[in-house]
Amino acid sequence: MPNAKNPRSSNGRTAAFGAVNRGSNPCRGAKTNEINSLAAHIDALYEYWYSVIVSQANQTIVLYKRHNPSCQVHKTRLPHATRRFWMDCSCPIWIVGRTPRGDIVPRQSTGFSDLKQAEAVRASLITQAKDETVHGPTVAECAEKYLASRRHELSEKTLGQHRLLLDRLIKFCESRHVLYMRNLSVDLLETFKIDGLPEDMADTTKSTVVAKLRCFLRTAYRREWITESLVDKVTAHRAVYEQKEPYSDEEVKLILDGALELHGGTHGYAKLPKTFRLLLELMHETGMRVGDAIRYDAAVPYKSDHLWIYTFVPQKKKKIDLPKPQETYLTERLKVAIDQCDWLSPKGPFLYGAFRNEAYLANEVYSRMQTIGEKCGVPDCRPHRLRDTFAVRMLLKGVPLEDVSRLLGHSSVKVTETYYAKWVASRKRRLERLVAESLVNP
Ligand SMILES: [Zn+2]
Repeated sequence: MPNAKNPRSSNGRTAAFGAVNRGSNPCRGAKTNEINSLAAHIDALYEYWYSVIVSQANQTIVLYKRHNPSCQVHKTRLPHATRRFWMDCSCPIWIVGRTPRGDIVPRQSTGFSDLKQAEAVRASLITQAKDETVHGPTVAECAEKYLASRRHELSEKTLGQHRLLLDRLIKFCESRHVLYMRNLSVDLLETFKIDGLPEDMADTTKSTVVAKLRCFLRTAYRREWITESLVDKVTAHRAVYEQKEPYSDEEVKLILDGALELHGGTHGYAKLPKTFRLLLELMHETGMRVGDAIRYDAAVPYKSDHLWIYTFVPQKKKKIDLPKPQETYLTERLKVAIDQCDWLSPKGPFLYGAFRNEAYLANEVYSRMQTIGEKCGVPDCRPHRLRDTFAVRMLLKGVPLEDVSRLLGHSSVKVTETYYAKWVASRKRRLERLVAESLVNP
């Protein structure tokens, strides 16, 4: 209670709003002919004024008058500084200050000239502010806190995706007049999954977006922004992942041959078609991502029993993950061919010019493959499908899913299964057919 802090005034009464307004305002009940005797009560008016200053310091809301030029207050001998607290006239009462929560109440007319009515306005503003305290923080506030808490571990790109989702959530909630975290409900969130996200959003995108929403809800419960564990009730969006399609052997041959036929150009990969072809072969034979293949360091591989072992740190990782070296295997033929080819720069066979900008080079590889695809008639010609081709080839040859997952450098077997489940299944069918044939024709 702010009033409890108020010091006792000179006449011994508590300088509180209520006490002053109800008990000691000299203006209350004053008749016009008594105005001139007001000077006798002037210390009471000072008391009121003092309490106003204290209450401002305590962040409360102050009522005061803006007297009309014709108002009788101007005929009194009241000091000018205190005239605005003289309430016994029909001039409008204004309001200004801060709610107990600290929100600013802008200077404005209450629309009343009667103190009781104006006090009711003030009381309702204070109650409203108290309600807000009961409701807890707003969705927008919590979204900001959440993003701030994850900034250190997420890349700019991923953080941007979280922000986009939360902005959509805030907008959707506002359209349903929900401002506070505590007012989030399972039904509202389930509706958001349908009406709050773009209609044409791909199923798989939606699946990751809803996963992000659930992360936010998990944090919200942990940090006690909400009192119910909504994450347990809002279901994940299950999507069927489009299965990765490998290139056929013929398509691989067309692409590799097509790489040699792209002559012309004096810059980058266009300058050295044979080297570019080796880059494609490297991706096809090792399953490396284009960003890692571009950075291939010819000094690193060492000879093992059958193959060359190449250890590298994948570019794609979470921001806070420790670098996790990955091993891949090169054939003697490929290793030697790369060593002996014309290198694009002394830094590496596949690096040139702006090689510091890995994304730029990856994009160059992509657009060059697109051109090759158009020329040799292989649809959807892009680097990542060489990786898919590698993975499917391994699976179909009977390499266990766990091992393929390792070779691809996936964070878990689950990731591998998500994209290549179909090929695990066809591996099983192929085995079944082989067993069946051997039983029929022993
Ligand atoms: Zn007045």
